[in-house]
Amino acid sequence: MTWVELPEGTGFGIDNLPLGVFLARGRVGFRHGVRIGDLVLDLFETTGERVHQTGALDSFLIAGPGAWRDRREQVTEWLTEERHRARVEPHLIPVDDVQLHRPIGVPNYVDFYSSRQHAENVGRLFRPGTDPLPPNWLHLPIGYHGRPGTVDVSGTPVVRPCGQLGAPDDGGLPPFGPTRKLDFEAEVGFVVGAPGERLTVADFPEHVFGVCLVNDWSARDLQAWEYVPLGPMLGKSFLTSMSPWVVPLAALEAARVAPPERETELLPYLRDDGDPWGLDLALEVRLNGEVISRPPFRGTYWTAAQQLAHLTVNGAPALAGELFASGTVSGATRAEWGSLLELSANGAEPLRLGDGSTRTFLEDGDTVTISATAPGVNGGRISLGEVTGTVQPAR
Ligand code: CA
Repeated sequence: MTWVELPEGTGFGIDNLPLGVFLARGRVGFRHGVRIGDLVLDLFETTGERVHQTGALDSFLIAGPGAWRDRREQVTEWLTEERHRARVEPHLIPVDDVQLHRPIGVPNYVDFYSSRQHAENVGRLFRPGTDPLPPNWLHLPIGYHGRPGTVDVSGTPVVRPCGQLGAPDDGGLPPFGPTRKLDFEAEVGFVVGAPGERLTVADFPEHVFGVCLVNDWSARDLQAWEYVPLGPMLGKSFLTSMSPWVVPLAALEAARVAPPERETELLPYLRDDGDPWGLDLALEVRLNGEVISRPPFRGTYWTAAQQLAHLTVNGAPALAGELFASGTVSGATRAEWGSLLELSANGAEPLRLGDGSTRTFLEDGDTVTISATAPGVNGGRISLGEVTGTVQPAR
């Protein structure tokens, strides 16, 4: 039990303790913070360590899993034992009084494609008449390297991007302008803490610090025209939003589940029969406040541990503070699909909203919020917070 007064049903109890980066009035420079209830514990003030006075968690995460465990134990002790209260309490700040920043430096950003349902849904829409799964899909976690410089924190405005909207008519120029097919993608992100090379599936918890939520905003018309044969480019790179709180793997022990049974034999570096890292995270997508989907992460085919092994198998090192994301999370039924591309069948079947309006894709002024919870180690559910963004007109 913590001495901190917690709001009822908070997903930020003593069994969660996610890390983030903030600015607050009267405190010099960026600070690392731990969220507890509706408060943020200033780690720089409580520890006096400079490593917690930087603009990204990378400076702390690079110290590795021993340091992560020690800090978590120490913070738990501070927040549970009454004898620490007088010293620690002055360093708790209401979360509404801090400005949250992108929590990590993101030297690299990779986005995968690990939900089989999503891959099949997209395959049917973009490549009708062919096998919805590409021939490589069951043998490797497909992904692409994204644009780290446009990964930003939840709340960053989503300016409608312009670009080439498709093929030209009759030998003319391709149509150019603001995207007509702006979309969200509900994803789970993984934050590398300790750097490493040629990491194995078993190395995952020693190198990945924790989990966040990601919205991989997408312009479907740009994407469909540009992606052959090299994959996503400007249709994705205008903005990727991430939630401000990184939930440590240590808080997700009760959420671990076995991933779906593998349909084909895997190369040894991708085998995870011993200790798989499926995670039972329940996502929720709200459009202007209305729940439009509840994607379940637990059924995702490729785990983050397999993705980490895959993205380092060629010798490319994983760096402190880099981000890799799951790809759109979609479940078996329509109510569980994680993008408007799927929910509106690429615009063919508009989604009907509670206020009587319909959407094929996002309109200016729309707000998309993705949140998630997971089973906590003390029973109940912990929160992964949320990633939100509001669409602004093209500039
Ligand atoms: Ca994506």
